[in-house]
Amino acid sequence: MNHEQGDGLTTDIDTTSLESATETALAEEAIRVAKAAETVPRADQPLIFDVGKLTVYYGTFRAVKDVDMDIRQNQITALIGPSGCGKSTVLRCFNRMNDLIETARVEGKVEYHGVDLYGERVDPVEVRRRIGMVFQKPNPFPKSIYENIVYGPKIAGWKGNYDDLVEETLTKAALWDEVKDKLKESGMALSGGQQQRLCIARAIATSPDVVLMDEPCSSLDPIATLKIEELMLELKKDYTIVIVTHNMQQAARISDQTAFFSVRVDEQGQRTGYLVEYSQTDEIFTSPGQKLTEDYITGRFG
Ligand code: ADP
Ligand code: MG
Repeated sequence: MNHEQGDGLTTDIDTTSLESATETALAEEAIRVAKAAETVPRADQPLIFDVGKLTVYYGTFRAVKDVDMDIRQNQITALIGPSGCGKSTVLRCFNRMNDLIETARVEGKVEYHGVDLYGERVDPVEVRRRIGMVFQKPNPFPKSIYENIVYGPKIAGWKGNYDDLVEETLTKAALWDEVKDKLKESGMALSGGQQQRLCIARAIATSPDVVLMDEPCSSLDPIATLKIEELMLELKKDYTIVIVTHNMQQAARISDQTAFFSVRVDEQGQRTGYLVEYSQTDEIFTSPGQKLTEDYITGRFG
């Protein structure tokens, strides 16, 4: 039987799309297996953040209430939930970015390596060096690729070989090969996905131990998104990652832990975000403990 000639069995099948579908399935399976093999129960990992009864106000508006969470080392923790439930607000508490919002007030416990992150003697600049942040929209400085990387370490007074630092950092961010011949060109001239990897590189250039990401892929196309996801799986070997994502497939694909937030409306019509459920990602997606979580992940609301 000669398949290439068409034998009436295979002629109607578009083998290209079949092949790519198989490839995608295989790739997904590979990621799933790799993740399963690497997943360490979170209680076995050192504690990075210990959050208790975290409540955040903007003026008199209570945005999110009584959040209890532990963030463990070398894990990817995903924060998911409908828009306005306080994911970004909670994320900003992890590196005191809320300090920059005049009306914001943080109550409750946020301990970082056992130290009160909001303690009087804690320097917020040092906090942000150790706990880097990547935003939704890639925001490289309007400077060269090289300058984007060395900016933070320079300000921190780092003494070392900056050329080596740039190469190491860009390599870690899976960008070196694409930009090594144009380090003097503007970071703004890169594609969206490259800009976001540059921002990730900038965030890790100061040797943080945590990287916070607020919907880092939502302005990117699917290919660039996958690249960033692969990068995150690589980076979690060296860093602890907390990511806000509205993409549930993304949370399922890359995270070890998932925190599902929602909004409660009281009798006065006040909307307050809260943590519904926090668990191992596979548990959240296969056997959630709360009906609300199940409704959300199956797309019944949100
Ligand atoms: P999410 O990231 O889950 O979409 P946010 O944390 O951005 O939610 O917002 C939670 C609530 O806090 C929303 O009601 C939002 O309008 C409000 N909020 C967020 N940022 C501010 C701010 N800077 N000033 C006042 N209200 C804010
Ligand atoms: Mg947000």
